[in-house]
Amino acid sequence: MQTIMVDMDDVLTYGNFSKILEDYLGYKPDYKNLKGYYIQDLLGDKKNDFFSKFKDMNMYENAELLPDCYDILKELTKYYNIYICTDYIWREIVEYAGNNLKNKYDFLYTKLDFIEPKNFIFTADKSVINCDIKIDDKIENILGAKTMLLFTAYHNKNLDESELHNQNIIRVNNWKELGNILLKSNR
Ligand SMILES: [Mg+2]
Repeated sequence: MQTIMVDMDDVLTYGNFSKILEDYLGYKPDYKNLKGYYIQDLLGDKKNDFFSKFKDMNMYENAELLPDCYDILKELTKYYNIYICTDYIWREIVEYAGNNLKNKYDFLYTKLDFIEPKNFIFTADKSVINCDIKIDDKIENILGAKTMLLFTAYHNKNLDESELHNQNIIRVNNWKELGNILLKSNR
């Protein structure tokens, strides 16, 4: 059986951190101005204040799986070994990242009742995971896999499509598309 590494944030569930950030700011920031991957960089000198409040919040408390995610992932488990791999480190407050680890575990354990917890991987360095297929919204996390699937998110939607094509990276916009790619030879 082939193995698949599936990312959690912005692949299984979307926008939970940005929702908290927008509530804190009181407005929706213009994400187009963001240069990198981390939207907290938009906070400027409010960063410390934000994280002193954020450290006790559970951003998955009301989080839901993306549409079709549950059914497609469940069907995929018939043909693939699925590993959920997620980065839990809060770089600004690493001493509190254990809170995030617990919240992520609880979300995965409750929402994905068909995946055994031994298949949950918590690490910021996904390059050490040797899966055949990797699905993530961050390019660095899928490089090196036999099949590289980039899940569309605000920070990657403007990447040059021919550049992705040259790197053999396939863009997917939702779980239906993922299912069409990964289940087509099995259905
Ligand atoms: Mg992600």
